[in-house]
Amino acid sequence: MYDANARLWVCWLCLKRMRHKGQLEQHLKGPAHAEKLFKCPGTACGKEASSLSGIMQHIESQRCDAYDLAMGVMQQLERKMSSFRITG
Ligand SMILES: [Zn+2]
Ligand SMILES: [Zn+2]
Repeated sequence: MYDANARLWVCWLCLKRMRHKGQLEQHLKGPAHAEKLFKCPGTACGKEASSLSGIMQHIESQRCDAYDLAMGVMQQLERKMSSFRITG
């Protein structure tokens, strides 16, 4: 994806930034993301999956603290959303 503010290309998998689109394409094809693309955000979990749905399944299985982390983020988001007031 392209960060228009920083004028840099950002890898959406590892958030690495690159100056040129070609560099990002090379990076995505490179060893950094060759096999296991998605990593569980749980602390000390390290579970990896080759698809987003695979890692979602793992998170929903609640085998690690990633589920709690995800729920915490969702609740924070909801709190922020509910504090917004549409005016005008
Ligand atoms: Zn990357
Ligand atoms: Zn996990």
